[in-house]
Amino acid sequence: MSDLIPAYLGGTAALATDAVVGTPEVDRPKVLTPGAEELAADEIRVSILGSGLPWVTKAQAAGSVLMEVGNQQRDVFVFDLGSGSLANFSGLQVPVTSLKKVFLTHLHADHIADYVTLMGSYVKAGRLDPVDVWGGRSDHQEHGIVAFVDAIERALAWDTASMTGFVPKSGAHATAHEVPYDSTEVVYENNGVTITSFPVIHALNGAVGYRLDYAGQSVVFSGDTKPTRTLVEAAQGCDLLIHETFLPPEIFAELMSFPLERAKAVVNEAHTPANAAGIVFQMAEPRMAAMWHCHVLDGYIDSVFESMRTNYAGPATLCQDLTVFNVTPGAVVARQAAVNLMQPATLGPSDNKPSLDPRPPVPEWWAKAAIDWQSMI
Ligand SMILES: [Zn+2]
Ligand SMILES: [Zn+2]
Repeated sequence: MSDLIPAYLGGTAALATDAVVGTPEVDRPKVLTPGAEELAADEIRVSILGSGLPWVTKAQAAGSVLMEVGNQQRDVFVFDLGSGSLANFSGLQVPVTSLKKVFLTHLHADHIADYVTLMGSYVKAGRLDPVDVWGGRSDHQEHGIVAFVDAIERALAWDTASMTGFVPKSGAHATAHEVPYDSTEVVYENNGVTITSFPVIHALNGAVGYRLDYAGQSVVFSGDTKPTRTLVEAAQGCDLLIHETFLPPEIFAELMSFPLERAKAVVNEAHTPANAAGIVFQMAEPRMAAMWHCHVLDGYIDSVFESMRTNYAGPATLCQDLTVFNVTPGAVVARQAAVNLMQPATLGPSDNKPSLDPRPPVPEWWAKAAIDWQSMI
């Protein structure tokens, strides 16, 4: 196990015990180069945009998972948008114009911080179409997805107004779709893709996980949760199960300088420690199990695997940022993508046509205060 080197220390392979499960239909390069590989018609490509925790680091953005499918529309789905995750999205060269279907597992800040970037900055980058956002209903209206989407749109009023006359604003709007927090339901069905939400146990009512089905393949994403039967039922026999996994409480306490009791409360009461993730994997029996939302710390990687392995012996990957899974009928393959860190936004087609409002008059005092630099060159 100790030959697993994290990407931030120069490792180029996924942190996987079995990086290839099954027999791939095509030979894939060891490292994924963005833009170099077409999706097969029956493929789901899953890219980890954020693998880390609320205290975002250079090595690990906060929670986010991208799923692309090989249908004619090349539909793109993003599940959670944690801090820093869209920097990884840019690196993958997936068009910003395609990022308009957002599924949120819950509204903890580390899972939604880059939603502001999506709704503000990605409009300036060229996204013309409005966004659809799915998320949990709540016992309290102000805790639900409708209130959240509305509040962010209002909070971005200055940002949106600032685009008038410069940038088409059709992409600056979102429609919220509530999903139930207490039952499993199909919440999206289009172009051969079905997405089912299921309840999970995390912090408050309103947290859910999602299962995406396409062309006979299935990927399940837990979001944040304690080990939960509804998830195991939804994930039964899936191809890829991405399940949150925390460091064992003793290591988490040491790492965070938390008292052990506090670490135990966080890890055991709101999340899933690695040994419990092993139990979930053993119950759900996915083709590939993926641990996610875990500190990928050199020196601790073996401990995470060993703890998980007390309960599960199947193929497993510890997700880091830009771990990519190719899910096809023949195989599930885990690799790392090598990205250009300065890659700007990539554009693709839009349904909406660009249209600009007239520029508003500028404030009077600007005339006196502005330096007329163009007459000085
Ligand atoms: Zn959370
Ligand atoms: Zn979280």
